[in-house]
Amino acid sequence: MNSNEKNQPTMKWSMRLGTLAGIAVYVHATFLILLVWIALSYWRSEQSLQAVMHGVGFILALFGCVVLHELGHALTARRFGIKTRDITLLPIGGVASLEKMPDDPKQEILVALAGPAVNIVIAGLIWLWLSLQQIVMPDELSSMLQGGMLQQLLVVNLFLAGFNLLPAFPMDGGRVLRAILAMRMDRINATRLAASVGQAFALWLGLVGLLYNPFLLFIALFVWIGAMAEAGTEEIRSLLHGTTLSDAIITHFESLSPHDSLTRAIQLTLDGVQKDFPVMQEQEIIGVLTQEDLLRGLHEQGTLAMVREYMQTNVEKADINEPLESVMKRLQTCGCRLLAVTRNDQLAGIVNIENILELVRIEAALKKGSRKFKP
Ligand SMILES: [Zn+2]
Repeated sequence: MNSNEKNQPTMKWSMRLGTLAGIAVYVHATFLILLVWIALSYWRSEQSLQAVMHGVGFILALFGCVVLHELGHALTARRFGIKTRDITLLPIGGVASLEKMPDDPKQEILVALAGPAVNIVIAGLIWLWLSLQQIVMPDELSSMLQGGMLQQLLVVNLFLAGFNLLPAFPMDGGRVLRAILAMRMDRINATRLAASVGQAFALWLGLVGLLYNPFLLFIALFVWIGAMAEAGTEEIRSLLHGTTLSDAIITHFESLSPHDSLTRAIQLTLDGVQKDFPVMQEQEIIGVLTQEDLLRGLHEQGTLAMVREYMQTNVEKADINEPLESVMKRLQTCGCRLLAVTRNDQLAGIVNIENILELVRIEAALKKGSRKFKP
């Protein structure tokens, strides 16, 4: 089986639900845990199937609002020419995987605010509908939570807007904070600061969760991890900024012929540090044999199996002048282990993610001494 499947979800453990405005929508397995948890807690307290259906139905309606929230981000980003790969729903909300965030802080603020704005509009529409129906609504938000499903949805949408506007990464408010900071300092420091605020908030939330509600602990964990991931991604992004594939290309590498047996791949693996091999025929890369492919071949047929039987044949190419940021993105999303690097359509070398990360570590070390690496 070939692992190079197109349209893989951004997050593992996600199930595809469908497509909205050309964007694939996935639900993460942990969201289902939330559904089960809700169903069980309704069953425990009310002991009626109707209560369970009401609880689960409410969560599904809420989940619809979260999709619309993410769509708000995605469609605003589209106006600035940025595509969205997919939308994934997690128990703490959704994640729209934008190709990138706008470089212009003002555009970033608009994209970040579009999500919470959708929730405020939904709450407003529900309020209008309920008023037109002449349904008497309590003044207190907390007593509205005891009301019908629409009243509950109204309150929860206001909560969603408020929660997401907290100025802590990875919430939308954190992005707004980062963008505002980025107008005054460089982007990496702005991100670090916004991420620290996010982690401080996660600590506080975790403490409150410990005392009052274990579910908050769960959210705190997500916020903590999200803030760290955001800071890490930005760090790599800034280090790769201005570099092209020519900085990370591997020109000395071992290759295989399609007619080689797996024995040769084993020898090359044991001889050196390379794990994945381009398969060459007349100066042209026609496939890639990864370590996984090799092990699968050995398991199924032993050492005498041919390289061509187990190699992956869809080889992604990249021009030597392509910016490393975009090469990195492609390597993370294509499900391939290496790219063939071309110069004027001629093969010039290969590149893999380990090599790019190697360059990132070198750049980071040099940056501490404020030097720049130019091979
Ligand atoms: Zn959002």
